[in-house]
Amino acid sequence: MDLYEHQARELFKAHGIPVPDAAVVEAPREARAAAELLGGRVVVKAQVKTGGRGKAGGVKMAADPVSAELTARQILGMDIKGHVVRSVMLAQPVDIEAEYYVSYVLDRAAGTFLAIASAEGGMEIEEVAATRPEAVARIPVDPAEGVTEAKAAEIAAAAHLPAAAATVLQQLWQVLTREDALLVEVNPLVRTTDGRILALDGKVTLDDNARFRQARWGAEHTDPHGDPLEAAAAAKGLNYVKLDGRVGVIGNGAGLVMSTLDVVAGCGAEPANFLDIGGGASAQVMADGLSVILSDPDVTSVFVNVFGGITACDAVAEGIVQALESVCLTKPLVVRLDGNNAARGRAILDGRAHPLVEQVTTMDGAARRAAVLAEQGV
Ligand code: GDP
Ligand code: MN
Repeated sequence: MDLYEHQARELFKAHGIPVPDAAVVEAPREARAAAELLGGRVVVKAQVKTGGRGKAGGVKMAADPVSAELTARQILGMDIKGHVVRSVMLAQPVDIEAEYYVSYVLDRAAGTFLAIASAEGGMEIEEVAATRPEAVARIPVDPAEGVTEAKAAEIAAAAHLPAAAATVLQQLWQVLTREDALLVEVNPLVRTTDGRILALDGKVTLDDNARFRQARWGAEHTDPHGDPLEAAAAAKGLNYVKLDGRVGVIGNGAGLVMSTLDVVAGCGAEPANFLDIGGGASAQVMADGLSVILSDPDVTSVFVNVFGGITACDAVAEGIVQALESVCLTKPLVVRLDGNNAARGRAILDGRAHPLVEQVTTMDGAARRAAVLAEQGV
């Protein structure tokens, strides 16, 4: 899960990284009062989970509280790369002498973390990385050793950062490890004209697999502006991603669901979602999955694609039958059961004889049928 800049700023602050004073508001009127509290002059920054806000006009200086309100009015509601701005952060401006780039990312291929740092941070960092890669230091960090004082000094030296930035490099490593993040990025980390080092912008991606041991994410870091279906699915513990099409997809196993999306697309239809109900595929999970998909107004047919393995097809079929008791099926359902105990599973569904449920034995055939039904339902 990606965090907003203001959430990243809070984590930085909690780990001792210096950040400017700031406030978050959702309405222009609140911006004026917040700017007054912050001393009048502020930077108004769009809060969206995408980069390049500065270039898109989402980061603007305001000289006083009245213009902070006007600027907030301009930025709120703006569309930045498909993200609508619902809140802005007002921050105390600083006088910048130099902008640096620092980040830690998980390097899956190397099985380690990577520190990436440059003395040429700021809005042109991608350009710098592309044209002069030697200006960007990339130093592996052994997760068992972490960023010690010596390691921080090594990264700072390799990137030509001032020695004072080494402290932030150690603190940023604490953010990564203590908060279970997969990515932490500060761009720019600045040196001010009066010699302070401050993090002016932050990007943090938390590891969703560590959510169970990060209790505070529940309340603090859920996204009130996120997709409501994804929120409903997350509340039920489902592995669900909303997509743009009309064919609802349920499958057991992420790999099978991924290929189901491809096969549906290959039939000229577009999948409405990714939903992996996992290996167990109990009646409850099936019912939860169906109810999320059926509540998506874009969905006009549903394709349930199951390959029976340890959980055999008859158990999955029982699950579907039970789910049909608790969920009011309003859209056609195409079911393909194959693998362990497929014949028994098919017989169970035939026995239920629900008027909106059809069985097709092959994955391609079922996808084609779901695509046709989706088209008819539009
Ligand atoms: P991004 O474009 O989404 O990465 O947004 P940033 O928060 O990084 O802001 C873009 C740029 O605005 C920075 O690289 C800075 O040059 C500038 N900026 C942001 N905050 C301040 C500030 O307090 N003072 C000054 N002078 N410039 C700032
Ligand atoms: Mn930035």
